[in-house]
Amino acid sequence: MNSKITEQQQNLKDPVCGMEVSRSATNEGFEYQGKAYYFCCGSCKAKFEAEPEKYIPQAT
Ligand SMILES: [Zn+2]
Repeated sequence: MNSKITEQQQNLKDPVCGMEVSRSATNEGFEYQGKAYYFCCGSCKAKFEAEPEKYIPQAT
């Protein structure tokens, strides 16, 4: 049994609207500070690109 979840099957959260995005179903990827973010649509991506720090959960 293979319980390993591959990155491609993982659902990712759109940091702008909070919607779950399937990585394999979206082309709206954006890399920021070495981390990839995925979006449900181009307009969410555009908002993120304009102000990425507003949408990234701050660890510190
Ligand atoms: Zn969205």
